[in-house]
Amino acid sequence: MKDSFRHQGKRQQLIKTLEQKGIANQDVLEAMGRVPRHLFMDSGFEDHAYVDKAFPIGADQTISQPYTVARQTELLEIKKGDKVLEIGTGSGYQTSVLLELGTVVYSVERQKELFKKAQLFLPKLGYRAKRLTFGDGYKGMPGFAPFDGIIVTAGAPFVPEPLLAQLAVGGHLVIPVGQKVQIMTVFTRESEKKFVKIEYGEFRFVPLLEDKN
Ligand code: SAH
Repeated sequence: MKDSFRHQGKRQQLIKTLEQKGIANQDVLEAMGRVPRHLFMDSGFEDHAYVDKAFPIGADQTISQPYTVARQTELLEIKKGDKVLEIGTGSGYQTSVLLELGTVVYSVERQKELFKKAQLFLPKLGYRAKRLTFGDGYKGMPGFAPFDGIIVTAGAPFVPEPLLAQLAVGGHLVIPVGQKVQIMTVFTRESEKKFVKIEYGEFRFVPLLEDKN
């Protein structure tokens, strides 16, 4: 598991590309500049780790495109020490970006294989989530709510009510909503009862699957 100068150089290029594509939050760019994305990829794809694209990670899932990770993280508007819930741990890449920002991370994954892999792999890189859970993200993690930010990293056919309920006042839920194409949607909880919704552009995610167990 090496982070060579070659990888670091390519990664800095990618960060510049993200900035050119409109990512303005320097903390997010710097955090992504520190996470060795190539180590989260299947070996056959390692060479493409610093191309701004999504790639397969097994179990029919993908590691999100870097631009998407950057945009969603920026929209969360989180600060050091905030408690964040991630739905869809996948490779653990987004989890690591959140940890690099100094947040306390809870993450849920419904594919056992990916959950187990992330559980073993993240600590090897020194990334310690507060909780990595195997379960259904539609339910959130009610036992640990409220969260200062909630990020859904799979395409949701609808907005799960429990996620809105688990958001702290002042927090943002960043969720791509739609079937084939998703609209990046941010819900801000302005008070106990008031949510404000803003829509950003179109994105494409693997689907947020409903549990059949
Ligand atoms: N954040 C991940 C993105 C992985 S893709 C990364 O950085 O690599 C989306 C992930 O959401 C997949 O791993 C998929 O298995 C997971 N997922 C899909 N439906 C889910 C659900 N209902 N609950 C939790 N995770 C889910």
